[in-house]
Amino acid sequence: MVFSTRKGGKKVYCQVIIDIIHENVASPFTYRIPAGMDLEAGQRVAVPFGRQEKEGIILELTEQSSLDETRIRDVLRPLEDYPAIPGELLALAKQMAEESHCPLAETLRLMMPAQMRGGRVHVKTERAARLLISAEDAILRAEQEKRGYKRANLLRILADGKLHTVRELSSVVNEPGETLKKMAADRLIEISEEETLRIPGNSFAPQEETEYTLTQDQKEALEEILPCIHGKGGKFLLHGVTGSGKTEVFMAAVRHSLMLGKGSVILVPEIALTPQMVSWFRNRFGPVAAVIHSRLSAGERYDEWRRIRRGDARVVIGARSAVFSPVRNLGLIVVDEEHENTYLSDHHPRYDARDIALKRCVRENATMILASATPSILSFAKARRGDYVLLEMPRRVMNRPLPEVEIVDMREELENGNRTVLSGELRKALKECAVCGEQAMLLMNRRGYNSFVSCRSCGYVVKCPNCDISMTYHMGSTDGMLRCHYCGYAAPPPSVCPECGGRYIRYFGAGTQKVEEEVRKLLPGISTVRMDYDTTSGKDGHGKILEEFRSGRANVLIGTQMIAKGLDFPRVTLVGVIAADMTLNLPDYRSRERTFQLLTQVAGRAGRGERPGRVIIQTYKPDDPVIGYAARQDYRSFFEDEFRRRRRSLYPPFTMLARFLAESSKEHAACEAAKILEEKIHKMIAVHPAWGKKILLITNDTPSVKVLRGRYRRHIVMKMLVSPETDEMIGAMTETARETLPETEIWFEVNPTTMM
Ligand code: ADP
Ligand code: ZN
Repeated sequence: MVFSTRKGGKKVYCQVIIDIIHENVASPFTYRIPAGMDLEAGQRVAVPFGRQEKEGIILELTEQSSLDETRIRDVLRPLEDYPAIPGELLALAKQMAEESHCPLAETLRLMMPAQMRGGRVHVKTERAARLLISAEDAILRAEQEKRGYKRANLLRILADGKLHTVRELSSVVNEPGETLKKMAADRLIEISEEETLRIPGNSFAPQEETEYTLTQDQKEALEEILPCIHGKGGKFLLHGVTGSGKTEVFMAAVRHSLMLGKGSVILVPEIALTPQMVSWFRNRFGPVAAVIHSRLSAGERYDEWRRIRRGDARVVIGARSAVFSPVRNLGLIVVDEEHENTYLSDHHPRYDARDIALKRCVRENATMILASATPSILSFAKARRGDYVLLEMPRRVMNRPLPEVEIVDMREELENGNRTVLSGELRKALKECAVCGEQAMLLMNRRGYNSFVSCRSCGYVVKCPNCDISMTYHMGSTDGMLRCHYCGYAAPPPSVCPECGGRYIRYFGAGTQKVEEEVRKLLPGISTVRMDYDTTSGKDGHGKILEEFRSGRANVLIGTQMIAKGLDFPRVTLVGVIAADMTLNLPDYRSRERTFQLLTQVAGRAGRGERPGRVIIQTYKPDDPVIGYAARQDYRSFFEDEFRRRRRSLYPPFTMLARFLAESSKEHAACEAAKILEEKIHKMIAVHPAWGKKILLITNDTPSVKVLRGRYRRHIVMKMLVSPETDEMIGAMTETARETLPETEIWFEVNPTTMM
């Protein structure tokens, strides 16, 4: 009997992470590689696991094993003949798992399309034929062919010796299947299954491409960036005012990177909102560009991923998950509009795409560019500390002026008897704008018609039964329902108060729908188009609305913060903000930052063409400094002010917020879990007094959203100083949470997107 021996007689094993997320299978399992099977780290394999067959990923190959030889089982087969996860990403997954204290199987899942797991998508193949005999022989046989005209025609086509798909052949020869089969049996041709790719269609209208003479600011930025792409990489924060031409800078960087044979990743907050950039890239880079977006079918997504993995696509544009693209020889990662919240994932395992971009760039000697007109406080603080090179572009291209901003006090409007959502000033400006054939954008950061419905006698507010969040009234003949913006629950509005039986149910506040209705009522003849979650849910919903506006068929675009994101409409000369206070009043330490960003970004949408822009901000708090900074587009002063405030109140970046969120369908279970966890944390601190000094605050509380999607919630929020012990401390805490509370769902978050 012969044993499987290789490489100098040593048996070869591999360490496999099984694709199951469970405490007991978190570490790798050893399997034997059968003789004749060639495997590499990063490759996916099928392995026996208990009595089942499971998928796993090879972490490493080893020559020895300390385990009892008879207990080691064989790898069944490789799932692909190449490593699905290249070395750099394998290392990144390990680092992420360690740092965020989660199982490696979880972070590995981020590194490949979800559809690949469990064999849910397959490589698409097509039958193709190729000649086995010489061309002369084929032509001769074609001429001698008496009855079989099909066979003769096929021989003539195939005489070029190239591979022809059956689909292609059937466009010339009617139903060639049977004939081809017979020809293969006669050994004239060979028929094979060839891989094909589903290349997603371009749903965006191609843009005319213009190559500009770069501005001085653009040139200076590139002089810093390009040498780094050439060399060992660099880290940049590109702070340029709206309309300063940041896109052009990273286009040039991408081009340079390609020229050096390196690949690039461009992250955008939401791919549907950046059709212009996508079509620019498609036009300029053609098939070397891959676009990853949520509307791709599973098969298309898998194929785009394979094009990237094979190195056929070398420039990838996509939302946050594209940061994990297996780009070969990475040269550059750009994070456009880096301040956007969408870079934080809200699913498990949670990650910040900007952190991942940084980690990859450091690991792969690539260059990272974070770009924004309103950088996040955290990123700008890092740049000031010298972690990133700060590149500033303070001027708009072509010396275009920044828009003029006026602040309208809505309290005065109310005193003067104006109960509509539009101030006199904004109404007048909209009229003028339409008369001149120019366009306007109106921001209302709440969708629906009325923000909430309440009983005037007892103050009862209609809330979602699943979510403890007030429901929003949506008008319309098909709708007319109250909706929950968290879970989608809908119910007809009550005619009597469910609490006191009173008949005075009233509707308060405004949403995008109401703004649209009022604009139509107050300014007849002006055509509007609305962009919010409700109008963009269909396939290519965004594209249609943006096209409607771009073409000029609509004068006014009304929308939620969606319209503030990176859109470039040269004909927009007026931007109105209906209720600037909406985001300012949220119970979150970042609400000032969010408000500043939103106002500055949306104001920046005006005057991007030749004609200057005008911005009107309506507010009930005209003296709030944040509104003033935004009106002056004064990022620096806002930053200094906010930075001081964060230091004073001990918020990030001076501290770190961490929270454990317990969720359960039973209220007492969530409370109980939080209580046990809190006790454990206090015990832990008693054992490690040094840790105690780093934790400034521990609260065990009900979040402002008490129930979400039918699950009761309770959270423990900790404010702590960042120190060398932080990691160990958090590791110990998450470990404890997992060990002691396996029945309740416990989520752990560092600086969470929301504290609600
Ligand atoms: P940002 O992202 O900084 O707000 P964009 O990159 O969208 O700005 O550029 C604003 C506009 O200026 C775009 O329409 C772009 O095509 C144009 N543009 C960019 N660079 C130049 C240049 N060097 N000369 C003229 N126009 C430019
Ligand atoms: Zn709900």
